[in-house]
Amino acid sequence: MRQDLHYTLDGLDPRGLVEGLMQAVRENPRIQVHTETRLSRTQGTVGRFRSVLEQGEKRITIEHGATIVATGGKEAGTTLYGYGSSERVMTQSEVEKGLSEGSLDAAALDTVVMIQCVGSREPGAHNYCSRVCCAAALKNANQLRKANPQVRIVILYRDMMTYGFLESYYTEARRQGVLFASYDPADKPRVQFENGKPVVTFTDTILRDEVRVSADLLCLSTGVEPDPSHQELGEKLGIALTQDGFFQEAESKWRPVDCLKEGVFLAGLAHSPRPIVEVLAQAEAAAQRAFVYLSKGRLTAARMTSKVHDSLCARCRTCITACPFEARSYDVVNHRVTVDAATCQGCGICAVACPNGAAELKGPNDRQNLAIIEASLMGSWSAGP
Ligand code: SF4
Ligand code: SF4
Ligand code: SF4
Repeated sequence: MRQDLHYTLDGLDPRGLVEGLMQAVRENPRIQVHTETRLSRTQGTVGRFRSVLEQGEKRITIEHGATIVATGGKEAGTTLYGYGSSERVMTQSEVEKGLSEGSLDAAALDTVVMIQCVGSREPGAHNYCSRVCCAAALKNANQLRKANPQVRIVILYRDMMTYGFLESYYTEARRQGVLFASYDPADKPRVQFENGKPVVTFTDTILRDEVRVSADLLCLSTGVEPDPSHQELGEKLGIALTQDGFFQEAESKWRPVDCLKEGVFLAGLAHSPRPIVEVLAQAEAAAQRAFVYLSKGRLTAARMTSKVHDSLCARCRTCITACPFEARSYDVVNHRVTVDAATCQGCGICAVACPNGAAELKGPNDRQNLAIIEASLMGSWSAGP
């Protein structure tokens, strides 16, 4: 979405920021950039991935210790509220572009209506909050009023998602005279066109009355949707998608930028829609997580890993399918199931799935387990009530 961003609510210059980063990357002799390139396939595990890239007819094989997925996202399209049938109906990013590049004349506008949550937060549509479009509405309202202080702006919303310090911009917009009216999702605004102008009718939930506003410009907050490559890329990388089509993290609180697959990390809209400041923090976190692996001379296996009792194993491969970390594979030369100790997380799923008791966790034995229990009980007794 970099091309769509010209300014942010809190005054960042996203284009300048990205240009600076791109230049630093181009000038770094240790970074290779492959543009117009697709990932053909990838195999291996953390510390020793091997990926084949397609660049037209050319195939490039690279070896890498970690993978960071930063596919980005895009503004969702819509056919609602007359979008596509009138030049007076635009999305937030089109208004931003028009104001920045001068193709939208704010001085010629008397009334602008913005509708929030268009095609969002509903089953069947993008059933999530994109977290950026309320801020986009405020920043565009701000820019419109800077260019034309007389313009009347009405924002129709379900909830204003201006969390954290962004709340102050919402308060300021109200103080500046931007009108906010909430609508009920069961009774959405309706748009018809009169003399080429969009006329928006909505039920004001406070006045409990129907309001009609004739607008010179209708601006729609359509939210963010995942990059269309996600399904295919997820299958190639062996990482899961959420029901909304973004990539799934391993654990939202403790491993928020890790994928379940060891050595694969997420940054930005690949993971979920979020403001640029959060994207930058997440990208730094992903880089640092990757660095933890890359900086080590050797990787140690999890304390508890799984093993295979060859004599009990029926080679049914149930455990290979069951393992969520792809730590198990079938050795076709020796006809046996093998476990990659560096990838195994010791989750025990294979041990549960194996019908023959041939998959087992190499943890403490029964005697050691009893000793652990005894030691912890001794600890709690000596600590007293
Ligand atoms: S950020 Fe605002 S407009 Fe966008 S989906 Fe969330 S509540 Fe709706
Ligand atoms: S599920 Fe058990 S028996 Fe089947 S291949 Fe795996 S270890 Fe062997
Ligand atoms: S314990 Fe078994 S299922 Fe879990 S990661 Fe290791 S091999 Fe895979």
